[in-house]
Amino acid sequence: MLRLHVTDIDNVLRCRRKSEYQKEGLRKKESAFADRMFTGTVGHYCLAEYYRSGMKLNALMQALDHMQTQGEFDYELLKQVLLRYISRYHQQEVDYDILFTEQEVVYKVPGTNVQLVGTFDLVYGKANGVWIRDHKFVSNIPEPGEYDFNFQLKAYLWLARNVLQIPKLRGLELNAVKTAVPVPPNILKNGELSQNVAQNTSVELIEALIAELNLDRNKYAGFIETIAAKGEQFFYREDIIKSRKEMEEFEAYLPYKVRYCNTKTIPKFTTENYMCKRDCEYRSLCRVESTGGNVKLMKTTEYVVVEGRE
Ligand code: SF4
Repeated sequence: MLRLHVTDIDNVLRCRRKSEYQKEGLRKKESAFADRMFTGTVGHYCLAEYYRSGMKLNALMQALDHMQTQGEFDYELLKQVLLRYISRYHQQEVDYDILFTEQEVVYKVPGTNVQLVGTFDLVYGKANGVWIRDHKFVSNIPEPGEYDFNFQLKAYLWLARNVLQIPKLRGLELNAVKTAVPVPPNILKNGELSQNVAQNTSVELIEALIAELNLDRNKYAGFIETIAAKGEQFFYREDIIKSRKEMEEFEAYLPYKVRYCNTKTIPKFTTENYMCKRDCEYRSLCRVESTGGNVKLMKTTEYVVVEGRE
């Protein structure tokens, strides 16, 4: 019986070619991508230990130290990200009833030889019912609604309702954590501050640097206003709730989707889509493959094989 993780299906549905590169574990050499994947794995493990311990800081730190023995990642960066996460959310979570973390669920899809596998990052109860939470360690905070039609998240909701049969289930909470911390804005050659709004900065850090360098604050009023208006740039939560009808539709189409993902003869989808531009580390490899270039050579010179998750 073939085991297919909900993430694998999600990857194939988004881009078959990308999913094959991912299955090979290919990550671009000397880029943030390779580090990011293992950072995601470490982040998931640390948050699982943190919630499993009843939200104890020392459990999180022990988990972080343990992962240092498992592979390379930016320890200091992730430590700061996780400590900021705790200070951001701990107070609003103290009353949560943690039910389980990192729980694997398996479902045999009817009419196929496939077992659908899902790993629940966290299931917890709060005053209004039970929620499942999916952690994502990301380089860009998602847009609202970006995950609304995501197969993976719908699959978690369906498995929680129909396989785990969680009583009083309310929905799924997307929990995105940007693997970055706020830093002061860049200083340009002319001594002024860069006003690029894509920088990972904060109003406090901009104002502190203006004061330190004795700059004219008025020149930066618009920049400061834009950064302030952006609000939270490092953490994002969104509740995803699906109706009974949507869940029935999901169930009805599940065998077709599973068969589609499992059919090797379907050509790899290579039409440029929003994922190519936004976040695909395989663009150059994909172009080489599309134009009949030397894929093997490019894989060995520009990529490494890494295990990990976002
Ligand atoms: S560049 Fe686009 S088509 Fe190519 S692998 Fe990436 S997502 Fe798929």
